[in-house]
Amino acid sequence: MTNFDTVKRNLEARGYAVRVFPTGKEAADYLAASLDGKSVGFGGSATLEALGLYERLESRGEVVWHWKWEDPAAARRAAQATDVYLTSVNALAETGELVNIDGAGNRVAATLFGHEKVYFAVGRNKLVPGYDEAVWRARNVAAPRRARQLGKKTPCAVKCDRCYDCKSPERICRGLAVLWGPMMGMAAEVLLIDEDLGL
Ligand code: SF4
Repeated sequence: MTNFDTVKRNLEARGYAVRVFPTGKEAADYLAASLDGKSVGFGGSATLEALGLYERLESRGEVVWHWKWEDPAAARRAAQATDVYLTSVNALAETGELVNIDGAGNRVAATLFGHEKVYFAVGRNKLVPGYDEAVWRARNVAAPRRARQLGKKTPCAVKCDRCYDCKSPERICRGLAVLWGPMMGMAAEVLLIDEDLGL
């Protein structure tokens, strides 16, 4: 079992609610029960895909995900107006910083403003010791893997070994957000999951 004690304590000190789950299934069960009656927007996330949450929630109310809708642009806009928002992170520092890189900006924007509450589902593989390592992981691990997954014509997608800070028109890294704590007026909960999930 991964020892989440330090990161849990540091996240709570920053104002997050935190729960620890041994498996993704238990985290998904918790979210499905917590989100009953709420409209839910999804950020692009291989973790959420692995948890199967969209399929579980879509029969129960308004769920919005640009990975699932026919019109991704419309979904990105609609997801900004839901009650709650689900996403993961590209990296989580044990000191409590959450780091996400984005291309279109919908995901990082939704973690900064506009929802009653944001949930971050985070597998153990996203956990790194500190802030510098979190930024490094987001740039050099998560982003190249995503670029390769999308078949982008970027140097990182070919080698998948690090970020080349490319100037490619297909660059997927257009902005980086660091959350030092929940934004004012918006609740935030971090689900720490003792499985490798996402990129
Ligand atoms: S900036 Fe370019 S090279 Fe670096 S991870 Fe993003 S897409 Fe890849």
